[in-house]
Amino acid sequence: MYFLDAAQLEPGRELILSRIPNELSRRQEIDYYIDLAFEVMELQGVYCSARVKEKKYSQVKIENVWLDSRVLRVNLENAREVFPYLITCGEKFDQWYAGQKFLQKYYLDVVGSAIVSMAQESMMRFIEENHAIDNSARMNPGSLPDWPLEQQKLLFTLLGEQNLLEKLNVYLTKDCLMRPTKSVSGIIFPTEHDFESCKLCARKDCPGRKADYDPCLEDYYK
Ligand code: SF4
Repeated sequence: MYFLDAAQLEPGRELILSRIPNELSRRQEIDYYIDLAFEVMELQGVYCSARVKEKKYSQVKIENVWLDSRVLRVNLENAREVFPYLITCGEKFDQWYAGQKFLQKYYLDVVGSAIVSMAQESMMRFIEENHAIDNSARMNPGSLPDWPLEQQKLLFTLLGEQNLLEKLNVYLTKDCLMRPTKSVSGIIFPTEHDFESCKLCARKDCPGRKADYDPCLEDYYK
């Protein structure tokens, strides 16, 4: 199990701004709220190295856990080692957020999501450098119908549910939502392709879109 602290995960300001909708990113308030968020949040992350042991048509066995996702299974075709991970902005951020007024909450929500999203990029670079991987991609349960949010429970099993609670104070609600809310979990894997879940997602006007929808790609995952 590897733990990363804020210094290792904190994305640069330009990266954070790249995840904020254009109409907001030019506003002075955003800089103010980024500074404020960094003061309050306790950005932390954890990942482990896990072996890919077996594959079926739309399932893949990581250590002793079967994950159900055709897209993940195809993405792991040549992978032997993968990296389940979790990143959180911490409970203090949630508590502080709850006490803010409407407009502040709006900005903090946008900024908090951008920070936790880009912290995943920091974790990917860290894993590439420390595990001799040329290129990596990630998948998050709940980002595509193919890999529903409920599968997050299995990621918690791989990372050690008790461990996550004791070390990072992160847990799942009965609806499989993470607490603290600004938390993200997923699997980072070595790949020769630049995979992004957004390429398989047709949702229109998504502010979090990272790549164009590519309907032709769906054939690849059939
Ligand atoms: S387009 Fe939006 S909803 Fe779809 S996978 Fe990307 S971030 Fe998620």
